[in-house]
Amino acid sequence: MRKKQFKTESKRILDLMINSIYTNKEIFLRELISNASDAMDKLYFVASAEGGKGFDRSDFEIRIEVDQENRSLSIIDNGIGMSQSELESNLGTIARSGTLDFRNDNKAELERERTITSDYPEDEAVDVDADNQQEIDIIGQFGVGFYSSFMVSKTITVISRAYGSETTCMWYSEGADGYTVTELENDQRNEHGTTVTLILRDDIGEEDYSTYLDEYTLKRIVKKYSDYIRYPIRMSVTRTRPIENEDADSDTPPEYESYTEIETLNSMVPLWRRNKNELSEEDYQQFYQDKFHDYEPSLTYTHFNAEGLVSFSGIMYIPGRAPYGYYSKEYEKGLQLYSNGVLIMDRCADLLPDCFSFVKGLVDSPDLSLNISREILQQSSQLQLIAKNLDRRIKNELMNLQENDREKYEEFFKNFGLQIKFGIYNSFGADSEKLQDLLLYHSLKEDKMVTLAEYQESMPEDQKEIYYAAGGSISRIRQLPQAELILDNGYDILALTEDIDEFAMKMIRQYKEKEIKSVSDSDLDLETDIEKEVSKEQAKLHEDLFTALKDALDDKVKEVRLSTRLKSHPVWITSDGPLSLEMEKVLSAMPMDGQPKAERVLEINGNHPVFQVLVNLAEADQDKLSMYAQLLYNQALLIEGLPIEDPVSFANDICELMI
Ligand code: ADP
Repeated sequence: MRKKQFKTESKRILDLMINSIYTNKEIFLRELISNASDAMDKLYFVASAEGGKGFDRSDFEIRIEVDQENRSLSIIDNGIGMSQSELESNLGTIARSGTLDFRNDNKAELERERTITSDYPEDEAVDVDADNQQEIDIIGQFGVGFYSSFMVSKTITVISRAYGSETTCMWYSEGADGYTVTELENDQRNEHGTTVTLILRDDIGEEDYSTYLDEYTLKRIVKKYSDYIRYPIRMSVTRTRPIENEDADSDTPPEYESYTEIETLNSMVPLWRRNKNELSEEDYQQFYQDKFHDYEPSLTYTHFNAEGLVSFSGIMYIPGRAPYGYYSKEYEKGLQLYSNGVLIMDRCADLLPDCFSFVKGLVDSPDLSLNISREILQQSSQLQLIAKNLDRRIKNELMNLQENDREKYEEFFKNFGLQIKFGIYNSFGADSEKLQDLLLYHSLKEDKMVTLAEYQESMPEDQKEIYYAAGGSISRIRQLPQAELILDNGYDILALTEDIDEFAMKMIRQYKEKEIKSVSDSDLDLETDIEKEVSKEQAKLHEDLFTALKDALDDKVKEVRLSTRLKSHPVWITSDGPLSLEMEKVLSAMPMDGQPKAERVLEINGNHPVFQVLVNLAEADQDKLSMYAQLLYNQALLIEGLPIEDPVSFANDICELMI
C-alpha cells in the first residue's frame, strides 16, 4: 500500500506537534471530543435538512475506551463520519478544516437558524432567551486540532463510515512521514460514525503518557474542558462491591468483587445556556463556589445571553470579598472563555478591564476565531466587542446594586473601591465618566457614605462647588481649620482618607458641571464681593507685617498671607499649585528619587486676637515677632499632621514664653 505524504506546510506543523510545542498535552482529548461532537451536530443538521425522519439529540453519544494492554485509547462517535476522500482531504492536510467548509456550504441555512444576526450597532448585543439560541453549534474552526493527538501518540488510526454509505475506511499514520487510507473489507463498524484510536507513546523521563489510560485522569480532563459538550461522553469504569453471602456470619469481613459500569462523565448542559427562570439563587451560588473556588457565596451575579454582531452568553460574579492576594502583583485577572461549551482559556485577561479585575465568571461564544488548536486567541475584534459589552454590563450591575441594595454595595465598595479609584487615576481621568458614579465617600455632614450624585443633590442652592478634604482619618479631617468655615456655611465635605483619593479626585476635576475642590485650595469661591473687598483692604494695610513674617520664615514658605477662610483657628498651612500637602505626604512615602514638594503658604486669621498681637509686635519687637512666626508655622505643621523641622527649638521657644 502506497504511503502518502502530508502537504509541506502540514508536515511542518506536524513536526512541531510531534516534538510538542504544548506544555499541556492533555488538550488533545478536548480536540478529539470536540471533533466528535461536531460530527454529530453535522449529522443532526444534515438529516433534518433532508426532511427525512431525522435524529434526536439523544441518539448520539461519545464513547471513550481504554485498552491497558495495548496502550490504546479510543474516542468513538456515531456522527456523520467520513468517506475515503474526506479522510484524505480532512486529515491529510492541516489547516484545511472540513468544519469550515461545511459551514461555508451551508451558510444560508445556518444563518436562517439564527434568530437575530447583524442588524445591531457595533457593540450592541441584545439579550435573548436561551431557547431561541441557534441550534447548530459547530466547534472546530481551523484544522489542526486533530493533529494534537500526535503529542501523545505513536500511531493514530481513524476508522470511519460516512452517513448513508455502505463502506468503512481506515486512515492510519505513524507521524510525519505520511499516512495511508484504505477501504476495509471486513466492516468494523456497522453504523455511521468515527473511531479514533491512539496508541500512546512509551513513558520517558517526566513524560507520563500512561496517565491517559487512567480512569481518573480521563475523567478529570473531560470535566475540565468538555463538561458542557451537549452529547453524553461515556466511559466504562471499574467499581467494586461487596459480594452477597448469606451463609457468612457477621464476623467474617465481606469479600469484594469488581464490575464495570458505563458512566456519563460530563454534565452536558452549561448553566449559562439555561433559562434564568429555571435557575435558583442556590444554583448560581453553588456553581460559583465550585467553579471559582470560593468558600463564600458571591455578592451578586449577572447572567446574560446576547446576540448581535457577536453572540455570547455567560455569567459574571462579584465576589463577596477580595480574592486572596488581590491587591498584589501576582493576582491575575480574567474570565474563563468557552467556545460552544468547550473551555479554551482559563483566564482570559483581555475580557476584563483593570478597574473590574475582581470580577469572576465565564463567557461562551460560538463566534470566536481561534488560532492554532484554540490555545491562544488571536487579538480578535470579536473578543474586543465582547469585552466592551461586558465592561458596560459590569458597570450596570454595580449601579443596580447601588440603587437596590445599598448595604451590599457598601460592602462591595469596601472590598473593591480602591480598584475603582485606581482605575480613574491610571486612566488619567479617561475612565472618570464611566467610574465616577461608582464612588462612595464619607460625608461629614451626613456622617455616612454618599455618592457624588447624592452629594450634589443635597447641595444648598448657593453652593457653587463640591468640596472634599483629604487626611488620615475622618476625625482628623473634621478638625481641619479650613473645614470649619465650609461646614458652618451649611456645605458638606467629602472626607478622603485613602492615599489614592486625592489623586483620583484631581483626575475627575468636575462632576456634572460642578467643580470639585479641596477645602485647602487657595481659590475657593466662598466670600461675598464685600467680604473680598474688606480682606483686600486689610491685607494691603498690613503688607509690612506679612513681609516681615515671610522674612522670618525665609524659604520655609513661599508666602505668608491673610486668610479668608479661617474661623476660630489662628493659622493654617496650605499650598499653591497642583500638589497639595496631603499628596506630598503620600508621595514622600513612596520609594522614588527627587520627591516633589508642595509650595507652602502660611495663612493667618485676621480676626483672631493673635493677629492683633502680631500687628503690635511688628512695631515694638522684631525679634519676638520672628519667634512668633516660627511658633505659628510649627503649630500649623502640627495641625496639618506634618513633622516639624526642628522640634528642640520649638520646645525651647514655648518654654521661653512660659517664664
Ligand atoms: P477542526 O478544527 O476543523 O476540528 P481537525 O484537524 O480537528 O480540525 O479536523 C479536521 C477535519 O476532520 C474536521 O474539520 C472534520 O471535517 C474532520 N473530522 C475530524 N474528526 C472527525 C470525526 N470524529 N467525525 C467526522 N469528521 C471528523
